[in-house]
Amino acid sequence: MRFLLFVIMLLVPAMSWAEQPSKPAKPKLCLQPLGKYDAKMLAASKRGVEYVYGFAVEVRPKLKMPKAAYYKPRKRYRADILLDYLRKDVLPKTDCEYIVGFTKHDISTTKGDVKDWGILGLGEIGGVAAVVSSFRTHKKLKNPHTALRRVVKVVNHEIGHVMGLPHNKEPGCLLNDAEGTVLTVDEEHGLLCESTIDYIEKHKGYAVPRHKSFDWTIVEQ
Ligand SMILES: [Zn+2]
Repeated sequence: MRFLLFVIMLLVPAMSWAEQPSKPAKPKLCLQPLGKYDAKMLAASKRGVEYVYGFAVEVRPKLKMPKAAYYKPRKRYRADILLDYLRKDVLPKTDCEYIVGFTKHDISTTKGDVKDWGILGLGEIGGVAAVVSSFRTHKKLKNPHTALRRVVKVVNHEIGHVMGLPHNKEPGCLLNDAEGTVLTVDEEHGLLCESTIDYIEKHKGYAVPRHKSFDWTIVEQ
């Protein structure tokens, strides 16, 4: 018995010492306003990312929408070109590891046979950049807070893709397939699933906060 106790005492300090080097630094994410944007929604998105992911978030000075992304036939901006712009031209000028463009202008991408499909947001799976538009979040509103909550959810959904996550089928979770509609966004509780947090912690090494329920008072302030 005494021997066993001795072994345990030896093991405990060895384990806590061994775990320390893997303790991750907080990654930094830049929120980049592009063209026209809603300042209140942007501020709420900053708090939302900090709350859900525990990242350090910097709001960058506003930039113009890049002309190359403009799609004249529909008077909106191509999200994939915006992602290229953010990754190649903007992110290297910051000290952020990730970047999320934020705008009020309508954005679009090609979806199956539809050449130009309007979307809420787009994030590179396992990349560094995402872009979110609040343009469609005002549709079919159920209460005054929904547009702001939708934006925060979309921002965190797209960051999930950037963390390397595809969609999942877990009801209510952030990475549940939104199919690009605002009403399915309303059904999300706004938090990451347990399995998603495990994935990020394992593959990225970040310590992600675990909340029992979403405290919107922190984000809505
Ligand atoms: Zn998605």
